Amino acid sequence: MTLPPVPASLRAAYDPERFRADGHRLVDLLAERLAAATGRDEAPVLPWVDPAASLADWPGDFAEDGDGDLVGVLERAAAGSIRLHHPRYLGHQVPPPLPGAALADLVAALLNNGMAVYEMGPTATPMELAVVGWMARQLGFPSSGSEDGSGVSAAGVLTSGGSLGNLTALLAARQARAGFDAWTDGDHGGPPLAVLCTAQAHYSVSRAIRVMGWGDGGAAVVEVDDRWRMRPDAIAGAIARAEAAGRRVIAVIASAGSTGTGAFDPLDAIADVCAERGLWLHVDGAHGASAALSPRHRHLLAGIERADSVTWDAHKLMAMPALITAVIFRDARRSYEPFAQEASYLYASGRGEGGAEWFNLGLRTLECTKRMMSIIVYAALEAYGTRLFRDYVERCFELGAELARRIDAAPDFELAASPQCNIVCWRWRPAGGPADDAGLDALQAAVRRRVIERGRYYVLQTRLGGRTVLRAALMNPLIEEIDLDGLLDEIRTCGAAEFRS
Ligand SMILES: *Cc1c(COP(=O)(O)O)cnc(C)c1O
Repeated sequence: MTLPPVPASLRAAYDPERFRADGHRLVDLLAERLAAATGRDEAPVLPWVDPAASLADWPGDFAEDGDGDLVGVLERAAAGSIRLHHPRYLGHQVPPPLPGAALADLVAALLNNGMAVYEMGPTATPMELAVVGWMARQLGFPSSGSEDGSGVSAAGVLTSGGSLGNLTALLAARQARAGFDAWTDGDHGGPPLAVLCTAQAHYSVSRAIRVMGWGDGGAAVVEVDDRWRMRPDAIAGAIARAEAAGRRVIAVIASAGSTGTGAFDPLDAIADVCAERGLWLHVDGAHGASAALSPRHRHLLAGIERADSVTWDAHKLMAMPALITAVIFRDARRSYEPFAQEASYLYASGRGEGGAEWFNLGLRTLECTKRMMSIIVYAALEAYGTRLFRDYVERCFELGAELARRIDAAPDFELAASPQCNIVCWRWRPAGGPADDAGLDALQAAVRRRVIERGRYYVLQTRLGGRTVLRAALMNPLIEEIDLDGLLDEIRTCGAAEFRS
């Protein structure tokens, strides 16, 4: 028996010259699309297709022999996608990624260093430690650089998304504060537990709690003030209610930039209560921790350096492609606790306490094989410098404030909350329109549907305090006044059509 030759299909697919040719064509094409979007072309921001009809555009029956037109199928995919680089995109908290970061992402994809163990990521691992250390310092955590266990410092990992980041932090909180070893004995090894958060907390917090098996009572709700921020003086009452329901409260989950309204909970005052009562403080800064990059806005995060853990999405206000999330622990040793198990086939010495196997990052994430996220952030920070990131945050926050000013000044619009960052919520209240809440709710939803189906602008709606409101996250720093005014006019135009119909 001799080994047969490498099949022609494989030879062709791995051909470097083919990669070079496809790559050049693809980058040219993406550059053209980028120019069109940033130049405000008139093609739709969201080329709306009915969900059921979209299935027909992408059949799942694949031929045995493809046509070789990789660039063609990618071009069609790009053409049908929502365009975040267009300044008329004012939608979810997903940024138009820095084009250079997308190139770094390509490198990550091709190198595909798996990262669970240092050997499988000999550059990505130190880059990750450097990036997370830099992020930790931006938050005011004790300086890292002592990952080898010499002295307590902040530490953490990059992981795939804020949802996973929040789960990781909550697992650490449970291990640290439950009063029993939940990893070994399970969640029934002690009394039922709960954490505190506001109704504005991201749904990933509630999911994490349910994943941990805590059910309905696992999150006790703390009231908010008139700007949707947690009221520190309401924490004691929430604890009392949870205890009356048989729960032991172990942590407070504060939002630094809540998803709905961009509200920053008062971290310093919350940290005081946590210190007094021995509670773990987790800050969900998926959206807003990037405020730390701006001297003008970092006051929003005052006290974050007292948190036990922080989630920070680089794929939000650091303009990185999804998904790149840092989950950071003030005390590096805690970063080993979410997944304190033996994984002897990967790690020589099992559980690492500070010094042990600190360079094998898989010990500290749910993920085994992991994308080389660090190379993307590291390359951007080194190549563009830190000023770019400050400018990005400040520009986005300025846009939020400017849209709010315009809404406030217009007689037919009304702000639903005074914005603290780049997330704005408001209602359209035209003269002669419905006066009651139900009618206004229906109007917002109907107008928003018309706006997105027309495709010139992309904007959101949400429920806030029992009402339907329009919502925008200003993530595109290339937005100008013309786009803000244009959005309000588009709402009026679509709204007028709604009245006629
Ligand atoms: C976006 C967001 C999340 C979820 O993060 P993903 O990266 O989308 O999983 C969690 N919390 C807040 C406050 C967010 O804004």
